[in-house]
Amino acid sequence: MYNSFEHIDSDVLQNPEEYPGVEYPIMEHFYTIQGEGVHTGKAAYFIRTGGCDVQCWWCDVKDSWDESKHPKMTVDEIVSEVQKSGAPIAVITGGEPLLHDLDALTNSIKNIGVNTHIETSGSSPLSGNFDWITLSPKRFKKPLDEVFPYVDELKVVVLTKKDLVWAEENAAKCPDSTKLFLQPEWDTPDSIKLIVNYVKEHPEWGISLQTHKYLQVP
Ligand code: SF4
Repeated sequence: MYNSFEHIDSDVLQNPEEYPGVEYPIMEHFYTIQGEGVHTGKAAYFIRTGGCDVQCWWCDVKDSWDESKHPKMTVDEIVSEVQKSGAPIAVITGGEPLLHDLDALTNSIKNIGVNTHIETSGSSPLSGNFDWITLSPKRFKKPLDEVFPYVDELKVVVLTKKDLVWAEENAAKCPDSTKLFLQPEWDTPDSIKLIVNYVKEHPEWGISLQTHKYLQVP
């Protein structure tokens, strides 16, 4: 678990102040099934923030990159949608969600009893209050060292053998408890054979598939 308020008395966290006027650019938000990693198959409310400065050439959400294209929502509006859905988990994703200070959003979501997860490249400073941190490191903009101690799950997208080296470099910086996953890039079918062989030889890794795409849910 990571929370950026660790230095503050816990009573404050139990009664977090309201955050009037705090807004985030939101590309989309929807209730669906988590398709990837340890929490695959669980119901979760996805909040996709606008803005990304990592610019992976194979990115499948390039529309997220330009923050100014996406309407802003207040914390109250977002939390209200999460609450209405009945979801037990809210996943903050992007884009690169850590381009934004996530303290207000995550504390407000936790205040309604919903667990907070994040999917991040780790390339911007950590903020927020999270029950689960998935680091998906990208060679185009490397994760900050400050992120590694809090990583619950490492998920590396694989296209070529170079990505397996990159995966091991990042795994070496994570806590021993971190769950390790290799994930084939959706449009690179050759990566599947590469990953299968690698995991058989290095069973500390598992395979994460984008099962939501097989299920044809968002
Ligand atoms: Fe796309 Fe994610 Fe890479 Fe940003 S970090 S370019 S959103 S895949």
